[in-house]
Amino acid sequence: MSAEKFISNNGAEVHDRVKIETESITYEGLILPKHNFSKENIIILKLDNGYNIGVSTKGAKLSILSKAKPKKTIVEAKKKNKDLQNITILGTGGTIASFIDYKTGAVSPAITAEQLVNSVKALDDIANINAEPLFSLASEDMKPKHWEDMAVKVKEIHDKSNHGIVIGHGTDTMAYSAAALAFQLPEISNPVVFTGAQRSPDRPSSDAHLNLVGATKTAMSDLGEICIAMHETTDDRNVAIWRGNRTRKTHSSMRNAFSSPNEGPIGIVSDKIEWKRKYKSTSEKTTIKAGFDDNIGMVWSHPGLSIEDWENIVNGKNGVVIAGTGLGHINSELLDVIGKATKDIPIAMSSQCLSGSTNLNVYRNGRQLLENGVVETYDMLPETALVKMMWLSKHHPDKINEMMGKNLVGEISNSRKLD
Ligand code: ASP
Repeated sequence: MSAEKFISNNGAEVHDRVKIETESITYEGLILPKHNFSKENIIILKLDNGYNIGVSTKGAKLSILSKAKPKKTIVEAKKKNKDLQNITILGTGGTIASFIDYKTGAVSPAITAEQLVNSVKALDDIANINAEPLFSLASEDMKPKHWEDMAVKVKEIHDKSNHGIVIGHGTDTMAYSAAALAFQLPEISNPVVFTGAQRSPDRPSSDAHLNLVGATKTAMSDLGEICIAMHETTDDRNVAIWRGNRTRKTHSSMRNAFSSPNEGPIGIVSDKIEWKRKYKSTSEKTTIKAGFDDNIGMVWSHPGLSIEDWENIVNGKNGVVIAGTGLGHINSELLDVIGKATKDIPIAMSSQCLSGSTNLNVYRNGRQLLENGVVETYDMLPETALVKMMWLSKHHPDKINEMMGKNLVGEISNSRKLD
């Protein structure tokens, strides 16, 4: 019998304290949520000595020792300080909205944007924060429809309340969402700042609090470009502001996880913001062109990539972005197939290198790609190129080839085109 069925047949639930008797041994402990590494019929128990153990339901008897207590979380309403600016924090999930359940050791996406804001005392002296939940997702589960919903929500808040917005987001795909908002919202009346955390906010080592404070200060500036605000270094000192559509998560676990290798941060937030490069200021109104064509493919060029691999990914797509090697290359075997494909769909070439630009004029294969109608994307990151083609395919389907290589909202630095 499956573990879930066995538990519910006995009137028990996850986190109840139970006794399980088998033929040879009896265990007492808390029922833990099931994970994908154990077989169907295995119940995971957290024993009193801290170890987790898997027990087969076969021939086992379960009795409940005590029911799990529902967690009560009291959220106090904060008083508004009329001398401070208003800011909205939108919660979308990710580690910044999670906590570790020390009983079970699992990280659960459970705290609301409001609980998060209330846990950061330093925010009280910076702004009046209105927290709103939008989604509760790990960012690897975001889809283009979520990017669209975020843009629509931003426009609604800007139009109605005319103040800055912080978006709490999982770090894994934060840069995709930031790029997606940059294309959908080319003009913003108030800042839109993404932030997140590499450690959940309840851990002493969490980066959530400093990131939130830095993001909130940025949301009160005149920055008119969608940005990401996260730790500058591993110290709890400064937050770096990155241009959203030129940034990648470049470290899987460290707090200074983000970088824009081709340009560095736009600014550094400590007490105040020290601006490091020119940026676009906020506009009169927020303008929106929301939505994406999610039927765009991406091919990572690598030694041994075959025609069959190419066709498996590309057939039926409305456009393709290649993350090419070096200056924008793919093996010679594929050149004719790609040439044929460009007659039907747009194909753009970006570079896997983190810094520098594509240049298809240098080598023979690159020239052939250009002659065959592949467009190059210069120093735009491949993931930004993917989001851009998804956006163009929805809003400017006849101009994709013309617009992919042109800078629209800061995603390409023209000065690097001919490096
Ligand atoms: N996998 C998580 C996410 O992107 C990691 C994080 O939030 O940092 O949602």
